[in-house]
Amino acid sequence: MSRSAHPAGPRHADVLPEGHYTAPPADLNHLDPKVWARTVQRDDDGVLTVGGLRVTRLAEEFGTPAYILDETDFRARCRAWADAFGKDADVFYAGKAFLSRAVVRWLHEEGLNLDVCSGGELATALSAGMPADRIAFHGNNKSEKEIRDAVAAGVGRIVLDSFQEIVRVAHIARELGTRQRVQIRVTVGVEAHTHEFIATAHEDQKFGIALAGGQAAEAVRRALQLDSLELVGIHSHIGSQIFDMAGFEVAARRVVSLLAAIRDEHGVELPEIDLGGGLGIAYTSDDDPREPHEIAKALNEIVTRECEAAGLATPRISVEPGRAVVGPTAFTLYEVGTVKPLDGLRTYVSVDGGMSDNIRTALYDAEYSVALVSRTSDAEPMLSRVVGKHCESGDIVVKDAFLPADLAPGDLLAVPATGAYCRSMASNYNHALRPPVVAVRDGEARVIVRRETEEDLLRLDVG
Ligand SMILES: *Cc1c(COP(=O)(O)O)cnc(C)c1O
Repeated sequence: MSRSAHPAGPRHADVLPEGHYTAPPADLNHLDPKVWARTVQRDDDGVLTVGGLRVTRLAEEFGTPAYILDETDFRARCRAWADAFGKDADVFYAGKAFLSRAVVRWLHEEGLNLDVCSGGELATALSAGMPADRIAFHGNNKSEKEIRDAVAAGVGRIVLDSFQEIVRVAHIARELGTRQRVQIRVTVGVEAHTHEFIATAHEDQKFGIALAGGQAAEAVRRALQLDSLELVGIHSHIGSQIFDMAGFEVAARRVVSLLAAIRDEHGVELPEIDLGGGLGIAYTSDDDPREPHEIAKALNEIVTRECEAAGLATPRISVEPGRAVVGPTAFTLYEVGTVKPLDGLRTYVSVDGGMSDNIRTALYDAEYSVALVSRTSDAEPMLSRVVGKHCESGDIVVKDAFLPADLAPGDLLAVPATGAYCRSMASNYNHALRPPVVAVRDGEARVIVRRETEEDLLRLDVG
């Protein structure tokens, strides 16, 4: 991603401050459909609407900050993923991106399966009626209780992540008198992030069992010896916010060569291969994510080709998109509290949330877009930084963005593409009350996760 300084600079300075920004957009009022949820548009008077509802009304009714989730978009994305991969493959939504009971019901209705990685996520999934056989359980250090609960519920697969866990799951399954379907998660020596991937030296991480050095082959050997485990496949997950399919290509090739080695050694062809998630979305207009059908086509071709070359029947493929399903479907609605121009630098715009509802900017240096949504404006573009209200100078929501120079307290701003890893990573830092998630669809709004209250906070504080 190449970004350059804006040639003209901010309007109130001769010298450009450091930053990652391009020239201001030709029209500050334009909403790029790439970064906004499907039903977002502007009313004639400039107010943003989603699901047919005006954000001014949503702010009045539900308060700010709030995550506003476009249910129509969410369901359409589920269907696009399910259709793209078809009935001979499985799509698992990665629940860690954002999970609630409403989300579980939508996934179920739209034909997706679900990845969970904790007892809490499992409990949420089961309580909303997701059939256990459509749930996969992940994690590098599942507790005995979590494993027991998952096996007892009858989850479709547990993804084994260490030698100790192979024995632990086998033991619990035997105790419960069942045979548990499992996959083994391997690290293929590929790490992919955004537009690049690195094909060596990434065994240095906590997840999975390395292909290198024969570790994964040894894990397979042990799992195959245990009667209470049914080893159905190999799992690989290479990174996040990936646009380039080359990393998946290398991963698939390495996983398929393990499948061939397993056939040669044990005479078994494992029937499943999971290529993980990590597919990128557009946070800004610079990002160009691929459509699910393009991703499905590319992955199917890679796996089919590699299996043919190895003389293997093509296994059943599964993928695990989280961000690419939910990320684009929601935006965070904030109210502007203060506007502070710093001469020669930029204007700091403070909103009523911050790193407690979106940690990604502080944690990953993530980029976001932002727009004034309670009206349009013809004012000049003003180089801005959208910051939160927390006692921390790193409390930044949008590092560099152009907003209209007449921005004032009381205006509503929206930050798009906050559906993934924002509410699910939200904290109570400064005893902030975590915002609600409001689902909108066909002119109706419904709270699916309510706003926290001071009572909620005090209830945990037992003195
Ligand atoms: C996080 C994770 C995913 C989902 O990643 P996204 O970037 O949200 O698509 C899928 N599979 C595994 C094993 C993960 O850890």
